Amino acid sequence: MAEHYKDRHVIIGRCAHLTEPKQIHYDQGRAQCQARHLCYRGCPYGGYFSSNSSTIPWAAKTGKLTLRPDSVVHSIIYDEIKQRATGVRVIDTHTKQMTEYYARIIFVNAACLNTNLVLLNSTSRRFPKGLGNDSGLLGHYVAFHNYRGNIVADYEGFDDGYYYGRRPTTAFMPNFRNVRKQEMDFQRGYMVAFSAARSGWQQGTGQEGFGADFKDKLSNPGAWHVFMMMQAETVPRYENHVRLSSDQKDPWGIPQLITAIDYTDNDLKVMQDFLEQGAEMLDKSGCKHIKSYDDHRNPGLDIHEMGGVRMGRDPKTSLLNAHNQLHSVKNVFITDGAAMTSTGSQNPSITFMALTARAANFAVEEMKKRNL
Ligand SMILES: Cc1cc2nc3c(=O)[nH]c(=O)nc-3n(C[C@H](O)[C@H](O)[C@H](O)COP(=O)(O)OP(=O)(O)OC[C@H]3O[C@@H](n4cnc5c(N)ncnc54)[C@H](O)[C@@H]3O)c2cc1C
Ligand code: SF4
Repeated sequence: MAEHYKDRHVIIGRCAHLTEPKQIHYDQGRAQCQARHLCYRGCPYGGYFSSNSSTIPWAAKTGKLTLRPDSVVHSIIYDEIKQRATGVRVIDTHTKQMTEYYARIIFVNAACLNTNLVLLNSTSRRFPKGLGNDSGLLGHYVAFHNYRGNIVADYEGFDDGYYYGRRPTTAFMPNFRNVRKQEMDFQRGYMVAFSAARSGWQQGTGQEGFGADFKDKLSNPGAWHVFMMMQAETVPRYENHVRLSSDQKDPWGIPQLITAIDYTDNDLKVMQDFLEQGAEMLDKSGCKHIKSYDDHRNPGLDIHEMGGVRMGRDPKTSLLNAHNQLHSVKNVFITDGAAMTSTGSQNPSITFMALTARAANFAVEEMKKRNL
């Protein structure tokens, strides 16, 4: 690839899997990743980072953590006299009883869309359109990653190569469009992710069978196939929004969230560029039978929702300040994807975690100074 494209770099995916656990990981009850790629079912070894494997056990060790399972946050309580949030209303999923919990500061991290929902549902005389919603922008500028473009191909050769275990990651190519200057007839860009597998392995997926014969069959690898996909930034826009339903409620009596988002011409131009460039790169790499397609999936049917409670300096055009505090309710922090003003083309969760760590540190310091 390097000889054809100076600006395109293939990087093996770096996952939060423990390849060389340190003492701190053992202390958290975690162990080395077994490289079997069953991560999507949850990992009994704590082999990959998650709240369940890492931060919750670590927080539990302090003796100050209380987990309240089977609970749905209905809304945040705002005290008009104190002019601050004082707690949350929580519904027990079994009894449907509502309980109020009180706190000095509140972090809302229900993942982007539900964070929007909780804030929109937190109405009061001061905030009739949702908590902190003086700008009227709560729920707007929701964005997502565009995954519509896909490419498949065959790769001949390497038939005598065997591999053992499964690497729970793919390869990535960071965005190479509009990086230093605007150079395309579309805005922003896309990351490329790709992987290769042998048909024997793929045929095993979802097939019935067990035991030595079945394993032998699976370890008889077929030809190599390549799969390539895009992860493109969508430009946040006012029209892409979420709002509360006026008549439909969930089983706990909370209004359902209506998601009103669509692609733009820009998204389609980005996809077209990926389909052309991806096919060209695979061709130059020696792939055969290259097939590019738009799978026409609905927008947002994916995994990286962002926006709706955007950060910004100006309270007229944003909801959160630089510390992820609501401009008008300083003891409420929003640090998940809802805070994002753009999606970038990278995987976003480490940014959410960094924002959270920074805001949590700020909150602690402010509490020590009695500013919160
Ligand atoms: C299949 C898949 C693959 C992904 N791969 C990647 C990747 O490779 N890289 C990457 O960066 N990101 C990836 N993501 C995205 C990543 O998982 C999310 O960005 C991340 O989990 C968001 O963290 P969060 O804490 O904001 O939300 P979550 O992890 O979703 O946690 C929110 C929690 O809030 C709870 N909750 C919601 N509403 C309420 C309520 N009203 N009351 C009480 N509790 C509530 C939920 O039950 C949940 O436990 C992937 C997502 C999926 C689904
Ligand atoms: S491959 Fe995934 S499920 Fe298996 S040990 Fe590693 S992290 Fe856990």
